[in-house]
Amino acid sequence: MNVEKRDRLCTFTEQNDILALAQLAQPVHLRAGAALWSLRIALNALHDRSDEEHRAITEERAAAADPLKSPALGRRQALGGHGDPTGDAILALGLARSNRYADLLGEVLDQLDGVAKHLPSVGDFSPVARIEAAVPAMSPAAADATRLLADRIDGRIRRLIRLGHDRQLVPRIACPGCDTTGLVVRTSPPLDRRVIECFTCGNAWPRAEVLRSVDA
Ligand SMILES: [Zn+2]
Repeated sequence: MNVEKRDRLCTFTEQNDILALAQLAQPVHLRAGAALWSLRIALNALHDRSDEEHRAITEERAAAADPLKSPALGRRQALGGHGDPTGDAILALGLARSNRYADLLGEVLDQLDGVAKHLPSVGDFSPVARIEAAVPAMSPAAADATRLLADRIDGRIRRLIRLGHDRQLVPRIACPGCDTTGLVVRTSPPLDRRVIECFTCGNAWPRAEVLRSVDA
């Protein structure tokens, strides 16, 4: 992330506490919150995938090591030969592969930590939770930058682990702001936290609010 964008992410209004509530329902904040929910789900999935990959690599290494337990190699270790002969043999065979899911997880957590460390501390939570907690008090520009960052990281993760996006079209409802159809809701947040977004004009509303107005 470039410096300018990071600065924007960390911009706060001067009267955070007073403005927080007033800004809570602004479209940019709703959209940033929804994007962070998507990211949270993607991160959890990446975490699971990373664990699976770690197990798979461990098993592959064990399987590859099995026929290598030759008397000669065992004897070399018993006699105080250097290192682990099994590991040497596997490396020689080119079987040691890296865990690309763990690599990406580490990279994006570093990136999110880099943002979260500039935000007011709200305890020892994950960087996503800390950023989420800070959203209501963010300036509209910072909230928007947060959404873009969350969506960018979310996209990277989902592409790597082939996890589909979480956006669902809301049929038959025109945007109250720009009158186009094609409103979208992300399915990652719990039902009562979902947000309906218009990708055309950037407006957003709590799902319950839109559906109530439609039902009426
Ligand atoms: Zn619209």
